[in-house]
Amino acid sequence: MANLCSEPRCESYGLSTSCPPNVSGPSGFRELLKNFKHAIVIKIDVPLDILLSSERSGIMRLLHEIVAGIEQAAVKTGSPSSKAFAGGSCKKIFCHDYEDCRVLTEGGECRNPRHARPSMSGFGINVSKLMHAAGWTMNRYNSEADPDTTSTAPICGLILIG
Ligand code: SF4
Repeated sequence: MANLCSEPRCESYGLSTSCPPNVSGPSGFRELLKNFKHAIVIKIDVPLDILLSSERSGIMRLLHEIVAGIEQAAVKTGSPSSKAFAGGSCKKIFCHDYEDCRVLTEGGECRNPRHARPSMSGFGINVSKLMHAAGWTMNRYNSEADPDTTSTAPICGLILIG
């Protein structure tokens, strides 16, 4: 299981099939990586005042839609196993108006299969290191950050192409 999500425990822990303990975690991701030779990493620099506001959910939704779109374009153009990862909890982003994740509670279909993608953190991906490897600087921020001194912060996603 990814320590990132359990120590301290994320408030979205266990809420959907896209987050721990319902994903295969770091060991599963290492296995998955054996099947892929290429990866695309994307980032969106978001104004901090938006990221720390009620608009955050809409921005995270956009991130999911973009990585899912790239994944599906890759699938249609000859890389049928391509897989996208985003950030944040799909329960909060897509199913906030529902009490539960339908897949978890009913064994039903995901309500948002076109766009909802698993969180990178749940697979133990260190987003700071990933961004560093991509040559990007990651401005750390938290809810205490001062929007006046830190103008943007990045959110990012990953698409394995294969
Ligand atoms: S039904 Fe909602 S909470 Fe469950 S996996 Fe799909 S988007 Fe996520």
